[in-house]
Amino acid sequence: MRIDLLTLFPAMCEKVYSESVLGRAIAAGILDVHAWDIREYTADKHRRVDDTPYGGGMGMLMQAQPIYDCYSALCAQTGKKPHLIYLSPQGAVLSQKRAKELSSYEHLAFLCGHYEGIDERVLEEIVDEEISIGDYVLTGGELPALVLLDCVARMVDGVLPNEEAYSEESHYGGLLEYPQYTKPGVWNGKQVPDVLISGHHANIAKWRREQSLRRTFLRRPDLLKTAELTAEDLKYLNNLESENE
Ligand code: SAH
Repeated sequence: MRIDLLTLFPAMCEKVYSESVLGRAIAAGILDVHAWDIREYTADKHRRVDDTPYGGGMGMLMQAQPIYDCYSALCAQTGKKPHLIYLSPQGAVLSQKRAKELSSYEHLAFLCGHYEGIDERVLEEIVDEEISIGDYVLTGGELPALVLLDCVARMVDGVLPNEEAYSEESHYGGLLEYPQYTKPGVWNGKQVPDVLISGHHANIAKWRREQSLRRTFLRRPDLLKTAELTAEDLKYLNNLESENE
């Protein structure tokens, strides 16, 4: 899969995706990631990429021309239009479900805004989708783009050892993950739950499912409305509800 980032801070992005899981997937040729420097495409002789907003108000806005020319250069290089996502606090809030869908695209591009944002006209011209990483505002789209990149890339075939590595986690099936423990068996006087050392797979699976349901019920009850639940899950949740009444 190919992902291009359009940004004023390519070095900041490269630093992040060249490390760890993404760095290894790129080295293995599973992911092809490029950061484009929007400033390289400015037609301004002082290399400016921003100006004051019409109508007045605080701050600076990124201008249309450098972004449009950077995007056109990308399209010319690949011979096709990527699915272009603008990271924006006004977009649909990122979900595991949307990230999973995006992980099957052949070519994505992420546009990072800065300052007060971007001239609306270029957004209308080139953007296919807007995604927000949450209801708060950051100084730039680089961190959101890297969040989206990480979230999408880990579900691309071959990036993690197998599908279980991501399908077993919080949010994938609509629930939070159960608590986990590693060695030693006793730490600070606290023992790992007996069931996990019992070697009894069915009991372990049942305990984990119940812990997932319990955590979600206590921490994020809103998720239960859309989670995939079995009759047994519902029975467990009903008991939990009466316990907490
Ligand atoms: N004036 C804009 C905010 C600009 S913030 C508004 O009120 O809507 C500057 C840039 O940071 C944006 O262009 C966007 O790319 C990025 N950004 C800020 N918060 C974000 C969020 N929650 N999700 C995704 N991108 C965000």
